[in-house]
Amino acid sequence: MSWKENVREVVPYIAGEQPQDKTLIKLNTNENPYPPAPGVQKALGELADGRCADLRLYPDMDASPLVQALSDRYDCRPEEIFVGVGSDDVLSMCFLTFFNSGRPVLFPDITYSFYEVWAGLYRIPYEKVPLDRELRIRPEDYLRGNGGIIFPNPNAPTGVMLETDAVEEIVRSSPDSVVIIDEAYIDFGGTSVLPLIRQYDNLLVVQTFSKSRSMAGMRIGFAMGNEQLIRCLKDVKFSFNSYTMNLPSILCGAAAVRDDLYFRETCARIVRTRERFASSLASLGFVFCPPCGNFVFAAHPEYSGAELFRRLRERKILVRRWDGERVGEYLRITIGADAQMEQVTEALREILDEVR
Ligand code: PMP
Repeated sequence: MSWKENVREVVPYIAGEQPQDKTLIKLNTNENPYPPAPGVQKALGELADGRCADLRLYPDMDASPLVQALSDRYDCRPEEIFVGVGSDDVLSMCFLTFFNSGRPVLFPDITYSFYEVWAGLYRIPYEKVPLDRELRIRPEDYLRGNGGIIFPNPNAPTGVMLETDAVEEIVRSSPDSVVIIDEAYIDFGGTSVLPLIRQYDNLLVVQTFSKSRSMAGMRIGFAMGNEQLIRCLKDVKFSFNSYTMNLPSILCGAAAVRDDLYFRETCARIVRTRERFASSLASLGFVFCPPCGNFVFAAHPEYSGAELFRRLRERKILVRRWDGERVGEYLRITIGADAQMEQVTEALREILDEVR
C-alpha cells in the first residue's frame, strides 16, 4: 500500500489574491485602507528598541495584555475571551472543539467558504441552508435539529445583516448545540449580539482585527462567550500548540484596542465612503443588498459579472468574484479610501459605456 492512500484528503480554501503588482487598486480581500492605530506603531518601536531581547522567551500563552485590553473594551471577564491567530484560527478551533455530535452543522449556502473547508478537514457532517431570493438568511430554516450553527453577521460575501431578535431566536431554539456568530464585519455599522452571551451559554461571538482594526497582517482574532465554552476552546488549543500568539501581536493588538477613538473614527469614515459608493453604484444601475460590512456585493442586470471583473482588472482594479449559479454575476468590492472608490466608479461608468 502506498503512503499516498493514507494522506488526509482535503479541499483547501482559496484565499483572495495578494498580487505583487503594488500599482493595482486592491479591493479584493476586504482589507482596511487606513493604517492601524498610532499606538501600534509605537508598540512596534518599543519592541524594536528596548524589548527585542524579550523575543528570546516564549510568549505569554494566555496573551494577557491583549486579553486584558479586550476585557476592558468589551466588558467581559478575561475568562470569557479566547484569542487566536486571526479569526480563521479561532473559527477552526471552534469547529474542532464544538462540532462533534455527528449531526450536521448548519450554515448558509452562500457564506464564508472556509466553513465548508473546515467541516471537510475535520470530517464534520454539514448542511448548507439556502439563502432566500433576496440573499437573506431565513431564521426559521435554522430552528431544527443540528450539530451546531455558524454564520457571519453581516453575512459574507452578501453583506446582509440579520437582526438581533432573529439571531436570538436561533440561539434559543438550539440549546444543545453551540451557535457561532462570526462578526468579522460587525464594526461597520452593525449591532453585535455580544450582550446575549450573558443569557445563552451556547453562544460564541467571534471577531477579528483584520478589517475594522486594519491589522490583517498581524493575524489576530478572538471569541467571546461563556467561561465554560472558552475553557473548552483553550483545552483544545493547548492540545495543539500553546504558543500561537507571538509577542508583537500581543503587544500591538493590545495597543490597537486601547485606542478606541481612532477605531471609531476610521470605521465611521469607511461607512461614509460605503454609502457614497453605494449610491454611485445604484445610479449606474447596479443592484445590491443594503451593505453592512466594508464591502458591497453588487451585480448589474445587463452585464456579466465575469466581464465586469475582467475589464476592471484591465484597468488595474482588483475586486473579488466567484463562479457559481447564484453568485457568478456579482462582484464583491471592498470599500477603500474615497479617492479609490471614485476611480472605481469612473472605471465602471466607462466600462458600461463601452459595452453598451
Ligand atoms: N470570517 C469572515 C466572514 C471573513 O470574511 C474572514 C476574512 N476572510 C474571516 C472570518 C477571517 O479573517 P481573519 O482570519 O483575517 O481574522
